[in-house]
Amino acid sequence: MGDIVEKEIVNFKEDFPILSQINQEKPLVYLDSSATTQKPESVISAINQYYRHDNANVHRAVYSLSERATMHYEAARQTVKNFINAKHNHEIIFTRGTTESINLVANSYGLSKIKAGDEILLTQMEHHSNIVPWQMLCEKTGAQLKVVPVLDHGELDLEAYQKLLSNRTKIVALIHASNVLGTINPVKSMIEIAHQHHIPVLLDGAQAMSHFPVDVQALDCDFYTFSSHKMYGPTGVGVLYGKERLLELMPPYQGGGDMISRVSFDRTDYNVLPHKFEAGTPNMAGVIGLAAAIDYLNQIGFSKIKAHETMLLQYAETQLAQIPGLKIIGQAKEKVAVISFVMEQAHPHDIGTVLNESGIAIRTGHHCAMPLNERFNVSATARVSFGLYNQLEDIDCLREGLFKAIELFE
Ligand code: PMP
Repeated sequence: MGDIVEKEIVNFKEDFPILSQINQEKPLVYLDSSATTQKPESVISAINQYYRHDNANVHRAVYSLSERATMHYEAARQTVKNFINAKHNHEIIFTRGTTESINLVANSYGLSKIKAGDEILLTQMEHHSNIVPWQMLCEKTGAQLKVVPVLDHGELDLEAYQKLLSNRTKIVALIHASNVLGTINPVKSMIEIAHQHHIPVLLDGAQAMSHFPVDVQALDCDFYTFSSHKMYGPTGVGVLYGKERLLELMPPYQGGGDMISRVSFDRTDYNVLPHKFEAGTPNMAGVIGLAAAIDYLNQIGFSKIKAHETMLLQYAETQLAQIPGLKIIGQAKEKVAVISFVMEQAHPHDIGTVLNESGIAIRTGHHCAMPLNERFNVSATARVSFGLYNQLEDIDCLREGLFKAIELFE
């Protein structure tokens, strides 16, 4: 069993050209996949192929090259639709990423549906991307934010969630998997409960997509948002999934080319879905790269990915447990392969700096979740997050690096 797994790990790593480099005279150990994942050769070459052979603006011209670019772009939409099991292609809106997808919903759905006295329900473990757009909406409308607390072990207080839902709640915006604690929230049952009150639910899936399968119809979420660069695809592109019924009712978020069917100085008629929400020239190469990343994930399959990442998480937890003075923040039962920790002997930034000297890249700081840090009374944490290219020996390097940090700082 160990041998089989090791063989698969080696193969995954070999798919990522960047990981063969030397960092600080040591092989690079990349443990910051929650911030962004590295890209496999197949994604890099899909983007390369697009610019070498297929680049033209989409949806605009009759010449063959533009038709081919449009065909690849729309085929990518179909790939995304199948990947998350949406009902229709036009429920997939390409954006710049999770952040833009959430801002789109807050501005379009939010401004048209939410007014003074209404409430928006978030959780204490949200990323700033799923806090600030709603806060800005509150400033514009006079609505109020309500927050579901996080319990000591890093799971949501579901009793409090039920109590916080009321007829004033107009949307629930909820992180699917936490970028700090790793917690996978029980979103299906939380959506069911919100729907009993006729409240729509938006999920922030930035940290979910690369780790486990997501089926938006099975979840019955109203909006789902994610970023390509956190799932082995390129930066600058992401997705908003929305139920057709809701997207149809929502006004456009941005105005410009492609989102119109007719423009005069008196009035503009908007284009049909999904184009109504894709103003201007889209990130064609990015979208095609995202489809290549999905093909890559599909080719490996989530059962293998999950088995591999669970093995990494369990091994890392046992190794970190041997480090004196180290405390893990976030002990949820269901976790993605992310571990945040603090150490008695050193500040997270110092830990990160010492590890870098051993060629190990980890993230330190507030991880764009300041309210969550406050909840756990820490100003910063060190975070290691794994991708399918990581190996058990990366964790051995991490353990050695942490012992080195203790020697230095004690
Ligand atoms: N939500 C979560 C949970 C995240 O981890 C991130 C990225 N760190 C975001 C939202 C924002 O994603 P992006 O910067 O790609 O828009």
